[in-house]
Amino acid sequence: MTGLSGLRAVVTGGASGIGLATARALAAQGAAVAVLDLDPGGVSEPLLGLQADVGDEASVRAAVDLAATRLGGVDILVNNAGVGALGTVEDNPDEEWHRVLDINVLGVVRSTRAALPHLRRSAHASVVNTCSIGATAGLPQRALYCASKGAVLSLTLAMAADHVREGIRVNCVNPGTADTPWVARLLDSADDPEAERAALHARQPMGRLVTADEVAAAIVYLASPAAASVTGTALAVDGGMQGLRLRPV
Ligand code: NAD
Repeated sequence: MTGLSGLRAVVTGGASGIGLATARALAAQGAAVAVLDLDPGGVSEPLLGLQADVGDEASVRAAVDLAATRLGGVDILVNNAGVGALGTVEDNPDEEWHRVLDINVLGVVRSTRAALPHLRRSAHASVVNTCSIGATAGLPQRALYCASKGAVLSLTLAMAADHVREGIRVNCVNPGTADTPWVARLLDSADDPEAERAALHARQPMGRLVTADEVAAAIVYLASPAAASVTGTALAVDGGMQGLRLRPV
């Protein structure tokens, strides 16, 4: 159905959460998948785990090139590695802004730069960026995170325009709050994690969090030849949070 069989994919931040679910879903559809992560230790076959830091140009370029060699090319790049940040504009010093923007925004730029020479050789080239509902909604206490994901949304559109004539599609997904280790860590740091979790669920339009597998399914679709005419789009996987104009998390 998706036409992914025989294609080669690189997923950054693919050792956990949405990235791992995406890597597994791509592999289940017949793609060969390399996972690039700071810590790929837990990644197992059929996925190929490679150590890489999207915050470091040389590291990510070496890993993308190695993935291309091991897989025989790259058709799909999923720019998923990212970090969270809490607080208003008063809460984080410039150093923290630089750190988060460097990973969440420049990380996408570096991985894409490294992958483009390989993508140009593919007949089914596509890039999918893991953006966020925070790109388009004013989430309280998340100024830096929202700014970083707003930039990823803009980058998605600009890259889609730049590479459309080369046959390289670029899209993004905007997940709402997804049940991943990252969110689990956030909840665990609360005074009463169970009460916090219940309150978080209650704020969701569907009364539950989005699952990593649901976000992965959207990424798989956008990455696949089934979406051959889809480029420059942001697909919300947020349980209706944005479309229903309900109070954000
Ligand atoms: P996660 O923490 O479970 O997984 C993130 C992975 O990225 C980890 O394996 C981590 O090692 C890796 N990583 C972090 N920095 C890296 C770097 N510099 N280089 C390489 N790898 C790096 O997080 P998640 O919740 O699955 O989030 C994945 C993506 O989804 C992020 O871009 C995040 O902003 C986005 N997102 C998450 C949610 C959510 O609610 N979980 C919502 C919207 C968007």
